[in-house]
Amino acid sequence: MLRINEIRKDFPILDQEVFGRRLVYLDNAATMQMPEPVLQSIVRHYRNDNANVHRGIHALSERSTRALEGARERVRTYINARSSDEIVFTSGTTASLNMSASAMVDTFRPGSAVLTTMMEHHANFVPWQQACKRSGHTFLAIPLDKNGDLDLRAFEALLSENDVALVAVTHVSNVLGTVNPISRITELAHKHNALVVVDAAQSIRHEIVDVQAMDCDFLAFSGHKMGAPTGIGVLYGKLELLEKLEPVQFGGEMVDEVRVAGSTFASPPLCFEPGTPNYVGAIGLAAAMDYLEALGLADIQSRERQLVRYAEDVLEEIPGLHVIGSPVTRAGCVSFAVDGVHPFDLATMVDKIGIALRSGNQCAQPLLYEAYGIGNITRMSPAFYNTYDEIDVAVSALKRVIDLLRSSSIRSQ
Ligand code: PLP
Repeated sequence: MLRINEIRKDFPILDQEVFGRRLVYLDNAATMQMPEPVLQSIVRHYRNDNANVHRGIHALSERSTRALEGARERVRTYINARSSDEIVFTSGTTASLNMSASAMVDTFRPGSAVLTTMMEHHANFVPWQQACKRSGHTFLAIPLDKNGDLDLRAFEALLSENDVALVAVTHVSNVLGTVNPISRITELAHKHNALVVVDAAQSIRHEIVDVQAMDCDFLAFSGHKMGAPTGIGVLYGKLELLEKLEPVQFGGEMVDEVRVAGSTFASPPLCFEPGTPNYVGAIGLAAAMDYLEALGLADIQSRERQLVRYAEDVLEEIPGLHVIGSPVTRAGCVSFAVDGVHPFDLATMVDKIGIALRSGNQCAQPLLYEAYGIGNITRMSPAFYNTYDEIDVAVSALKRVIDLLRSSSIRSQ
């Protein structure tokens, strides 16, 4: 059981007023707030141990390097990778997915296809689309069923009808909250000789991410979605696959020998980390993982599922409000459209009474424009530290603003 009142003391940012109203922060799918122990781990490192890593043999550099490599090992245990050599530090999910697409596309069989899905964030859609465009591979997207779950029959058909080299799929949708059955997806993909890349940007906090249980080949996530700083992320890859990839960015620390005649490169993961890595970010990421594990990942998962279910129930009571999708399992967020009300007006006006929601296309235009044909939406995304009372406050603010916007639009007609 999570002791929410105690936990909230770790997040002083939540305890503030905006525009004279108590802040209700329900935009955690965009970024989660950082708990004090993570902040302290960063301050402690800068105050006591800071020096560039891997480059020096002096005491501070060795301490910094140990802390970075300790963080790599921490990530390994958190996602249950086999080896810390499978953990590449990047600046975030977007960087991890771009790096995978650039490095992997050259390894695909001629004439093969990349399959992504209609619910992807642009970060797991556009890099593959662009890589396919450059290399002449086919780019396809798995459709959804009417509830917002992946259509697994259509997926199997696409696997049978095409020579699929790779499936790029999100674990949890950042709009629908759909939790995809990754183990089933990897099983089907592997039967057809296709690799699987998982976007775990959302699931890294809501789900228990176990790369061996999922048997995914690559997985990407960002620290800031789990209480770590911005600018740090991870690309996990099975070691035997990372070893086959050529680096796509070059510079210091990722090389073995550099001569005029040519260069050779370090082994993974260092060959994918050119330049000074964000070692303090990695230390903060490890501290965030310690923090979440100490609270209990299963408890966090169950609390967030309950909050999302509650939010969905109370939002649906608002006349003219339509929750988008009803997937078998929803985690992390509820998105909605309101008849006759523009999402930007809604989010802007509730902001003035202290409620932080997100409106827009959530970087998921194929989903919102092509699959659902609705365009922009509003999203509420609670984290474990939110309360039922905060959701009630947000819903009553939404009701008032919706009434106001509707009555002003009637008056102006
Ligand atoms: N994928 C999903 C599902 C996301 O929700 C996000 C961010 O919202 C991203 C990728 C991109 O993450 P970042 O901006 O941290 O690179």
